[in-house]
Amino acid sequence: MTEMMIEAAGLNKYFSDFHVLRNIDLQVKSGERVVLCGPSGSGKSTLIRCLNGLELHQGGKLAVCGIALTNTRRSIDLVRRRTGMVFQNFNLFPHMTAVENCMIAPMRVRGLTREEARAVAETYLRRVHVEDQINKYPAQLSGGQQQRVAIARALAMSPDVMLFDEPTSALDPEMVGEVLDTMTEIASEGTTMICVTHEMGFARKIADRVVFMDAGAIVETAPPEEFFTQSRTPRAREFLSWVM
Ligand code: ADP
Ligand code: MG
Repeated sequence: MTEMMIEAAGLNKYFSDFHVLRNIDLQVKSGERVVLCGPSGSGKSTLIRCLNGLELHQGGKLAVCGIALTNTRRSIDLVRRRTGMVFQNFNLFPHMTAVENCMIAPMRVRGLTREEARAVAETYLRRVHVEDQINKYPAQLSGGQQQRVAIARALAMSPDVMLFDEPTSALDPEMVGEVLDTMTEIASEGTTMICVTHEMGFARKIADRVVFMDAGAIVETAPPEEFFTQSRTPRAREFLSWVM
């Protein structure tokens, strides 16, 4: 039996009286790579933030890594331990070096010693190819390097699911490739990934499925080739005409 990593059924969310997520049904199996796309404001960030309890949903059911997210502190903590999140703006701790950024959660959450956490951090910093920058502070790194450190920081917790929210949209164009290459490597290792991105070349290369959102709802789900060549809704075709 394949393990379900994400099971959302009839998920709804409101920001006061604004209905931001509408009856979201989404299932993601272990090892599956899903690209989530859609116009700005369609609810992609809100959905991905619900998946690790950064936003609370108000209706429907959500289970992540087999844990029912019930908006209790305990369920949120359990889910956070098993999901890694990478943000558009890196969100590194500015007063910590690259390696310290990657050590903090393994020490605080997993209870590793400093030495153990350093070894883990160095392993993942090598994996994202920033091993020569590990003692620098975020401000001393390029955007592409900062984002790769942020990816290493998430991986250092050995998450079961990696969540990416437009990880390349804040980067200068010449740095997009290095981050996508790193993400492609991670994808090839069988990591379960949900990635909000408009990088359709990346989607074509790594995604098992493209999920298209519009106005708070999932309107299409298809393998990349099918989505790119035979999208069914006018909204998806219009979106593709902008990003392709
Ligand atoms: P996307 O990531 O697809 O661009 P978001 O999930 O960020 O979309 O936002 C979806 C909608 O919810 C937008 O209309 C946005 O303005 C609104 N929204 C997002 N966050 C909040 C918030 N904290 N409070 C109120 N409205 C919000
Ligand atoms: Mg967003």
